[in-house]
Amino acid sequence: MMALDASVLNNPLVQDLQAQKEVMWVNPDYRKAAATTQLSQAALFDAEARFRRFGAYMAVAFPETAATGGILESPLHKIDRMKASVTAREDYQVAGNVFLKADNELPISGSIKSRGGIYEVLKFAESVAIKAGKLAYLDDYAVLNEPEFHDLFSQYGIAVGSTGNLGLSIGIVAAKLGFKTTVHMSMDAKAWKKDLLREKGVNVVEYEGNFTQAITAGREQAAADPTTYFIDDEGSTDLFLGYGVAAIRLQKQLKDMHIPVDEDHPLFVYLPAGVGGSPGGVTFGLSQILGEHAHAIFAEPTHIPSVLLGMATGLNDQISVYDIGLDGMTEADGLAVGRPSRLAGRVLKPILEGIATFDDDRIMAYTAELRDTEGIKVEPSATAGFAALREAQPYLTTQYPHLDQATHIVWATGGMLVPESEHERNYQLGKAILDR
Ligand SMILES: *Cc1c(COP(=O)(O)O)cnc(C)c1O
Repeated sequence: MMALDASVLNNPLVQDLQAQKEVMWVNPDYRKAAATTQLSQAALFDAEARFRRFGAYMAVAFPETAATGGILESPLHKIDRMKASVTAREDYQVAGNVFLKADNELPISGSIKSRGGIYEVLKFAESVAIKAGKLAYLDDYAVLNEPEFHDLFSQYGIAVGSTGNLGLSIGIVAAKLGFKTTVHMSMDAKAWKKDLLREKGVNVVEYEGNFTQAITAGREQAAADPTTYFIDDEGSTDLFLGYGVAAIRLQKQLKDMHIPVDEDHPLFVYLPAGVGGSPGGVTFGLSQILGEHAHAIFAEPTHIPSVLLGMATGLNDQISVYDIGLDGMTEADGLAVGRPSRLAGRVLKPILEGIATFDDDRIMAYTAELRDTEGIKVEPSATAGFAALREAQPYLTTQYPHLDQATHIVWATGGMLVPESEHERNYQLGKAILDR
């Protein structure tokens, strides 16, 4: 633990976090602070174009993506039954419609990590192939599935530190391309995620410690080997942009569903946060593509509210939840990250509306409830947006006059690859809470 300034320890919000209270923090800099990032809309379109170039490769290498031309995207489901059930049970009201952005259905990793993680692997592969003089931007990228490229990529390593899903997305695609792939996993990572990666030929290194320790060890090992490329969940711009592409796709989905986003029809998006990279990238994308009437709110476990602690104290990645004495223990393995990314707090300062924290029991209950009401199976982390949905409503009603025409999107971040036995365990735990 580092020595903390009295101004941090005397901050009433920090004291609430130390006491593991559920809080709804409203960002005082929202739409006030100056933009703090060099990242532009052009960078998002560059990422979208790269995904398109790789469509032909993805369609042959991962035939389950052929129907969409190798483009990975998830559906937007209207969830009226869940809305009715959860608002009655947790005793609150939501004006407007509630949707689920089903990233649990995203091909390959079955999680939001299929956006950023896969994007950064593809970008690295493209740069290697182009530098080797074997690929041109206008080529049909399906050639990347040929043995010649597998041989080329096998001379390079890709490494990443992960609580699970990022390792899955990167590991599966990097190994398929031919890279020597190493995933450094923290103690929170589920055994089935490690097993699945080993099956795909990925070298899984396990740590006794938390995510920060695993990623630090991974970064150091990769730095010692010039042929290994390290994908840095604590600061990568490419990961961030890959996630941000979601907003370009969401704009089209909303338009096709005749859902406007404007002053009379505000949009609210509720996202679970770990390091803040995937929800941060989506939030950046929303601000660039959908503009000022799209608002994002994050959700974090009371035991490990890393992005909130960093943003509310202004210390960003210079403080971790362990510094204020929290234990970091949560059922939400995808959110089990004690220190936020270097990018998140800085980029999000003017564009994130707020962050809610939640007790683990609530996500277990939502997991069972979503299955009962909508027949949708996700991992517990993925339901955290429902906690933010509830905590944000009292505040939103004071801020926005047209909530009855609002659209609310709970971002379901993962679940497709979860084994049936694990779904069953989560369901039983959630049911027991619902029945209390
Ligand atoms: C990674 C992950 C998140 C959070 O993403 P960060 O980039 O760590 O903030 C949320 N839900 C699931 C299921 C995840 O795998």
